[in-house]
Amino acid sequence: MNTKTYIVLIEDEKSICNFISTTLTSQGYKISTAPNAKTGISLITSGCPDLILLDLGLPDMDGIDIIREVRTWASIPIIVISARTQEQEKVLALDTGADDYITKPFGPSELMARIRTALRHSYSLHTDSLLTQRPYRAKGLEIDFEKRLVTLDKVPVHLTQIEFKIVSLLAQNSGKVITYDSIISNVWGPYADDNNRILRVNMANIRRKLEKNPAEPHYIFTEIGIGYRMAEEG
Ligand code: CA
Repeated sequence: MNTKTYIVLIEDEKSICNFISTTLTSQGYKISTAPNAKTGISLITSGCPDLILLDLGLPDMDGIDIIREVRTWASIPIIVISARTQEQEKVLALDTGADDYITKPFGPSELMARIRTALRHSYSLHTDSLLTQRPYRAKGLEIDFEKRLVTLDKVPVHLTQIEFKIVSLLAQNSGKVITYDSIISNVWGPYADDNNRILRVNMANIRRKLEKNPAEPHYIFTEIGIGYRMAEEG
């Protein structure tokens, strides 16, 4: 008997709950839903889900506090569902420990893509060192982490140390948004100045080297006010 991937959805809006339940069930996932934080947390603690979909605006608790609580004892991937457009809200959710977010309204294909990415990263945790050494490949771009070699349509691209670090971090987490702050602390260290200017300057140089048209990127996308997301492999 195969075990279905189990997802817990915490969302108080009935229509969204129904839409997500229908979509996930038709894709072969097992899903439980909770209309509030209290029920949601008890579903999580009793059922050990593979992934949590979480609305930030709940009647009894702020979704951010659920992330904080779950993260004290579990590393289950959490995708935040939010109608809120405030970037600060999303950045806070990501920095508190959410893996990604999806903004209402969204369609089934976007939802499924986010879920697959989050699950892939959680399953890859155990074999991280092997996986990170496997080259990243997408649309003519290849990054060989071991050889520190970047090629675009087989032609080597010269990146500085810092540029290579940024691109590697994004590529090893492809499909997933990485916040400005977490890029800065990963690349420059935890005590780095948290102003984004130096990151923006480096990103402009990276795009000039990688993208045919830096204004319409194919490889590294900007999530305005939040961070960057690298194209999925394939
Ligand atoms: Ca809500």
